Amino acid sequence: MTTAPAAAPAYGRLRHRIGAHDVAGAGESLPIHNPATGEVIATVPMGGATEVGAAVEAAAQAFPAWSATPIKDRVQVLFRYRSLLERDLTDLGALITEEHGKIRPEAEAEILKAMELCEFAVSLPQLAMGEVLEVSRGIECRLDHYPLGVVASIAPFNFPSMVPHWTIPNALALGNCLVLKPSERVPLSALRIADLLREAGLPDGVFNVVHGGRDAVEAICDHPGIAAVTFVGSTPTAKIVYRRSTAALKRALALGGAKNHLFVLPDAEPEYTAGTVLASAVGCAGQRCMAASVMVAVPRTDHIITRLCELARAMAPNRDFGPVISAAAKQRIEGYITEAVADGAELLVDGRNLRVPGQEGGFWVGPTILDRVRPEMRIAQEEVFGPVLTIVRAGSLAEGLEIHHRSRYGNAASIFTSSGAAAHEVIERATAGMIGVNVGVPVPREPFPFGGWGDSKFGVGDITGKSSIEFWTQAKKTTMRWE
Ligand code: NAD
Repeated sequence: MTTAPAAAPAYGRLRHRIGAHDVAGAGESLPIHNPATGEVIATVPMGGATEVGAAVEAAAQAFPAWSATPIKDRVQVLFRYRSLLERDLTDLGALITEEHGKIRPEAEAEILKAMELCEFAVSLPQLAMGEVLEVSRGIECRLDHYPLGVVASIAPFNFPSMVPHWTIPNALALGNCLVLKPSERVPLSALRIADLLREAGLPDGVFNVVHGGRDAVEAICDHPGIAAVTFVGSTPTAKIVYRRSTAALKRALALGGAKNHLFVLPDAEPEYTAGTVLASAVGCAGQRCMAASVMVAVPRTDHIITRLCELARAMAPNRDFGPVISAAAKQRIEGYITEAVADGAELLVDGRNLRVPGQEGGFWVGPTILDRVRPEMRIAQEEVFGPVLTIVRAGSLAEGLEIHHRSRYGNAASIFTSSGAAAHEVIERATAGMIGVNVGVPVPREPFPFGGWGDSKFGVGDITGKSSIEFWTQAKKTTMRWE
C-alpha cells in the first residue's frame, strides 16, 4: 500500500525581511500549525545572531535618511498604511484566524486596534513638538526629541498584529528604524505588516522582520547597534530580556504575564456582569494578558455565578471561541484544571476533552468555570492562559483586596458594582496598572498608555500612548544667546 505524500504547507518556508530582501536564513525551521485543525500551514526559519546582525546593518543604513525626514512627512507613510489596514481588514483578520485560531470578530478587532494605534502615531507631530522658553532676558532654552537609532520589538503569540502595532507606528513616526522579532508561533501577520508598510511607501530597511526564538532574542539583547528593546510576553522571559538588555546598556521595557482579579459585588447588574466576566475570561480563548482570571465573589453573588455557568454552557466553538495556540498549551491548561479539581475546587463547567467535529486535530479547550478555589492553590496564583475562570469566595471586598494584594502580578483589576464607594475603593487600593469599573477588559484607549505593575512590567513608563514618546526618543536641550 502506498500513502499519498503530505501536501506542502500552504505558505511554504517563510523568509526574514531584511532591508529590501526576503532572506531564507540558515538553520532549522519550525512548523506553524493552524490551531483549529492542527494542520501545518508554513514553516518558519529560526534566525539568530547572523540574521539579527544583517537586520541591524540594514536598519542602520536606512536611519540617516529616515531620521532626517521631517516628522510630518514620516507620519504620512503611517497615514497611508492605516488606510491599507482598513482596505485589507477582512484578509488580515482571516490570516490571524488561520495562524492564531481566534475567531474572526476577535481577529478583526486586532486590526481595528492597529488602525487606532496608527491614528495616534499620525498625531505625534502635535504631541512631540518640543518646548522653548526664554529662561532669562535674552537667553532661550529649547528641548527637542531625537530618535534613538536602531531599535527592536519582541512580540508574543497572543496578538499577532495588535501587539506589534503597540511599537511599530510610534517608533517609526519618531524617526527610529526597527527590527521586529515576532513570535515564532505566529509569523505570518508580521510579514503582511512588512508588505503593507512597503506599499505605503516606507523606505527599505526602516522596518525589518527577523523570525526566531531564544537565539534571535538573545542576539537582539546583546547587539551593540540596537539602542532600545521592547518586549511583550511571559514574565520569566520578560525578566531575561530586561536583565540582558540593560546589562548591554540598552533602554528596555519588558511587559510580562498577568493574573487579573475581578471583584463581583451583589449590587452588580447580574445579566451584564455575568456576560462581561465570561467574555473577559473566554474571549481569545483566555489567551489575553487582560483576561479575567480570578473572579473574587463576595457573598450573595450566587445568582450571577449561576447565570455565568448557563452562558458558558451555551458557547459554541468557532462561533463564540477559538482553539488555544498549541497541543502543549491545551495539555498545560487541562492539567491545571485537573489539579485544581484534585485539590478540592468545584468544577461547574468543564471544557476538557472538547472534540470539534471535522477539527479533531485542533487544540480545543472549552469554557471552564471552577468554584471554591482557595487563594493558595496553584491555579489561583499562576497564569493559566486559557479559557478558565476560577472563582475565589471572599467574605467582603476588603478580604478580596487582600487576596489580590498577594499576587505578584499587577496588570489589571476590575470591579462590578453599582456602588461608587466600592468602585473607588478598588481604584484606590488595587495594585494593578489598569483598572476596570464595570469593564471586563480595561485596556486604555489612545492617548492613554498601556502597562501594568509588579511582575507584569519591568522598566520605566508604559508602552503606548504619550508614554512612548519618552521611550522612543532622547531629549536634546539647547541654551541660546544671540546678543
Ligand atoms: P513567551 O514569553 O513564551 O514569548 C514571547 C517572546 O519571547 C517570543 O517572541 C519568543 O520567541 C521569545 N522567547 C520565548 N522564550 C524565550 C527565552 N527563553 N529567551 C528569549 N526569548 C524567548 O510568551 P508567549 O507565550 O508568546 O505569550 C504569552 C505571554 O505573553 C503571557 O504570559 C501573556 O500574559 C503575555 N502578554 C503580556 C502582555 C502585556 O501587556 N503585559 C500582552 C500580551 C501578552
